[in-house]
Formats: sequence, C-alpha cells, structure tokens
Amino acid sequence: MNVTLIEHTPNPERTVALAARLCYSPASIDDLREKLAVSDIESFLDKIMSLGHHSVLEHASFTFGIEGISRVTTHQLVRHRIASFSQQSQRYVSHKEEFASIMPDTIAVNSEAQQIFASMIDTVHKAYAQLIEMGIPAEDARYILPNATETKIIMTMNARELLHFFALRCCQRAQWEIRNMSDEMLRLVKRIAPIIFRQAGPGCVGGPCPEGKFCCGQTVEVRDFYKNLQ
Ligand SMILES: Cc1cc2nc3c(=O)[nH]c(=O)nc-3n(C[C@H](O)[C@H](O)[C@H](O)COP(=O)(O)OP(=O)(O)OC[C@H]3O[C@@H](n4cnc5c(N)ncnc54)[C@H](O)[C@@H]3O)c2cc1C
Repeated sequence: MNVTLIEHTPNPERTVALAARLCYSPASIDDLREKLAVSDIESFLDKIMSLGHHSVLEHASFTFGIEGISRVTTHQLVRHRIASFSQQSQRYVSHKEEFASIMPDTIAVNSEAQQIFASMIDTVHKAYAQLIEMGIPAEDARYILPNATETKIIMTMNARELLHFFALRCCQRAQWEIRNMSDEMLRLVKRIAPIIFRQAGPGCVGGPCPEGKFCCGQTVEVRDFYKNLQ
C-alpha cells in the first residue's frame, strides 16, 4: 500500500482559524488576515473544536493518492459521501497483460491457503485474458475479477470529514486494510495540521469508546498509539 498526500489547502490551520475568527468579529477580512497572529491560531482552533463549531474545518482540504489497495477497500472508502474520488477504470484499463491482487496476511502466512489463493488468482487472470482475446470488452470481462483486484484511487476530503473518517476507520473494529490506510492518512495530515488532528483517531481517542459491547477492550493502548502517531 502506498498512501501519499498529493495536495492540501495551503496553511490549512490558518485558513480555518481565520474562518472561525470572522464569525465572531466585526472587523474586515483584510484586517482579520493581517492581525491573525500565529499564536492565536491554536487558541481559535481549540475553541471551535470544543464548541463543536466544526463547519469551519470544511475550509481545509486534503488530496491523497492511494495505490496498492484492493477493491475490497475502495468499495468501503467510496461509501464516504463527503469526499471526491477518481478511481482507475476497469472499463478503460485492461488487466490482460498484468494482473495484481492483494493477499491478506492471514492467507499469506498459511502455505495451503496461500496456494489456493494464488491458484484462483492465476485461473481468473487467464480466463480474463482469454475473454479479452475473444473480443469481449474489458467492461464485461471485468465481471469475473475478484475483490482482491489491486486498484488505485485519488481522494479529496475536507478536515471535518477526515475527522469523521478517522473515527470510524482507525477503530479496531474497522477492516484491517482500510484501517491501515486510515492510519497512513492520519500520519500525513498530522504533519500538516497538528492542531486540527491532535485528537484524531478512533472514537475512543477523544472520549469513551462509542462501540459499546463491541469495544475492543484495548482503549488505553489504542489512545496511546494515536497520541504518539507521527
Ligand atoms: C466497522 C464498520 C462496519 C460497517 N459495516 C457495514 C455493513 O455491514 N454494511 C454496509 O452497508 N455498510 C457498512 N459500513 C459502512 C457504513 O454504514 C457507512 O456507509 C460508512 O461508514 C460511511 O459513513 P457515514 O455514512 O457516517 O459517513 P459519510 O458518508 O462519510 O458522511 C459523513 C456524515 O455526513 C452526514 N451525512 C452524509 N450523507 C447524509 C445523508 N444523506 N443524510 C444525512 N446525513 C448525511 C452523516 O452525519 C454522516 O455521518 C460499515 C462501516 C464501518 C466503520
């Protein structure tokens, strides 16, 4: 898996703090921009986070490039509606010559399971290539491709949605591949906007575990992990 932060709002924390300041001040935008000291940014951000005035976080956007993940994961990813996605097409990009797949660790460490998986991937790839050679369009041949098919996607989310996304997808209850991806995304945005994402992570980082009877029972370790994530 390769997750990169391709672009983001320049000075995201300053932009969000300015938007927050504007809401509570009679001054002009030029004045606010001029007078917004670096030292004020942290206190404004802390204030809006504690007040739940989260709409101002929507002014900061982050665009990620994500490669080497399965269709299992992108299918979960695109369920997040407050985001923009561009995914490699299986209509226009043929897998005839090269076919890559993602093998879960539970399968990779078990030689018998690994063989079953590899042989099925090989069979599917050969069948796909045969269909393409017969003149079947890629948009139809792809019907036999598995969830394990490797894909790539570019995704843009604003900071408010990212906090929600991390709460759900960094949680131990989330599926391992999307959780690993979320952890990588969080690492990247924390470097750019450490104040906004200081409390980011699964729901238990900022309060009690929201999972109730499904709690992983590792709240202390999980909180520690996300506090130190860099
Ligand atoms: C552990 C786990 C297991 C899951 N299992 C399943 C499963 O078995 N089957 C399944 O189908 N899905 C499953 N999902 C996906 C889940 O149901 C959501 O579709 C996905 O997590 C997107 O989250 P969301 O809807 O909160 O937020 P987003 O789409 O990211 O939206 C963010 C927030 O915006 C608001 N919002 C967005 N759109 C609307 C709207 N139309 N109306 C009102 N408010 C809106 C909501 O407050 C929402 O929380 C699972 C997710 C997780 C984390």
